[in-house]
Amino acid sequence: MFLKDRTALVTGSTSGIGLAYARALAAEGANVVINGFGEADAIEKERAGIEKDFKVKARYSAANMMKPDEIAAMVAEAEKEFGAIDILVNNAGIQHVAPVEEFPIEKWDQIIAINLSSAFHTTRAALPKMKAKGWGRIINTASAHAFVASPFKSAYVSAKHGIAGFTKTVALEVATNGITVNAIAPGYVWTPLVEKQIPDTMKARNMTKEQVINDVLLLAQPTKEFVTVEQVAALAVFLCTDAAKSITGTTLPMDGGWTAA
Ligand code: NAD
Repeated sequence: MFLKDRTALVTGSTSGIGLAYARALAAEGANVVINGFGEADAIEKERAGIEKDFKVKARYSAANMMKPDEIAAMVAEAEKEFGAIDILVNNAGIQHVAPVEEFPIEKWDQIIAINLSSAFHTTRAALPKMKAKGWGRIINTASAHAFVASPFKSAYVSAKHGIAGFTKTVALEVATNGITVNAIAPGYVWTPLVEKQIPDTMKARNMTKEQVINDVLLLAQPTKEFVTVEQVAALAVFLCTDAAKSITGTTLPMDGGWTAA
């Protein structure tokens, strides 16, 4: 329970990796603000489940990570209730798979807004209170696509490379403030985001579902296994420990060896 009296805000945490981060941080005693889309009943079940399972406060913000004013309001609300956001996890993300010349312009704009710019908006809003406390952790979800590319994912790869650069920059700016800024770069994790891109990849590459799983997704991953959401969340928890206080400005791969190749 080393995060008792800390507050974590996790964007995009109504499913997948984000929900696992929120639960893992709550398991260490942190109050959490979850965020993201989904059915109201399902979100409420997750929120109440966190409170019941871990005896912490859990709040939900419906802020759309494409909208800077909603992001600012989400941070202000969290700070009003909890004093400061101690742990900011920028995780919301979407994917779209298409050749660059057919890539819908609005999808490009959405991916850059949600996967990259939202981290700028949350960070700039949360930093003043973090600095005042002299302690903070900013953890961004990057991807193996922060290091390498795959065809048909131009917006996603651009945003994730951008997140790695943003992580380094902010880390340097707050290095003497007791705040670390890092990114985690998972390989393929079995979540709704991966499942949803299979039909488009089948179309773009003219493949069956099994071929996409084995010959596209797991082809990249030498372990031939999907990373789990619990593994990613455990690394985020470690980054919040004192043992990790000298780790800053880095993007840490957790990709079954993908980017070693
Ligand atoms: P997911 O689809 O399960 O979760 C995405 C979350 O973001 C959901 O809670 C969703 O509601 C939320 N979201 C989407 N658009 C939003 C918006 N406009 N405003 C607020 N919330 C929004 O996906 P996931 O796989 O858990 O992905 C989480 C992060 O991990 C993303 O940044 C993704 O790029 C990254 N990632 C995923 C994988 C993978 O293989 N699944 C690998 C590397 C990186």
